[in-house]
Amino acid sequence: MMGPQGAGKGTQAQLLATTFGLPIVATGDILREMAEGVTPLGRQIREVQSAGHLVSDEILAEVIKARLGCEDCKSGCILDGFPRTLPQAELLEEIASSLGNSILVINLDVPRKLLYERLARRRDCSKCGAVYNVVSKPSKQEGICDLDGAPLLTRSDDHEEAIAKRLALYDEKTRPLLDYYGESGRLRTVDGTGTPEEVFARLSRIFQVETAESSKK
Ligand code: AMP
Repeated sequence: MMGPQGAGKGTQAQLLATTFGLPIVATGDILREMAEGVTPLGRQIREVQSAGHLVSDEILAEVIKARLGCEDCKSGCILDGFPRTLPQAELLEEIASSLGNSILVINLDVPRKLLYERLARRRDCSKCGAVYNVVSKPSKQEGICDLDGAPLLTRSDDHEEAIAKRLALYDEKTRPLLDYYGESGRLRTVDGTGTPEEVFARLSRIFQVETAESSKK
């Protein structure tokens, strides 16, 4: 899944995973978990994430090799937040070919103004990670997760300064990957505006066609 922060990658990944029975590999979530550790690496990741910078390609290489090597990823997975740089994309080519998997890139296209609105209004459950929006998808009780009653938090990198930095980094480092995948015919762009259900209807049509095509090969 590709697209800038706030495009809805996490929400759509969840819907895809539930519908098609694939595991989600979200590098942001894996790194946030690592950042909770009281180790020098944990502290380093915490600082980089809070500032809205990218964690180094070297750390990402270790994280993604370990995760994609797990049994549940052998027949495929949904990648959310990876790759974000060209070296990461090149590493993914190597891993996918060694596993005999192909890569399909779904790019969620959302106007910049809407991205800011979505990110500033986003609240995440501190326990299960469920994502809410104070305007378009509020929890039943303000500040409390509907699913497990845990407090809802604003992510440390969802403040205006970090949002601007993350979107600028996306333009600089990640957007060029759309050309990389577009040139090799593996990119499908989906209109990411509207409700999660509307976006998912568009996305799952593409996903079904593509997976049917690739299983014929
Ligand atoms: P996300 O939840 O995908 O928005 O990621 C949150 C933060 O985790 C990012 O702003 C980066 O600091 C870090 N991160 C996640 N995935 C990557 C990646 N593939 N490369 C570098 N940093 C990453």
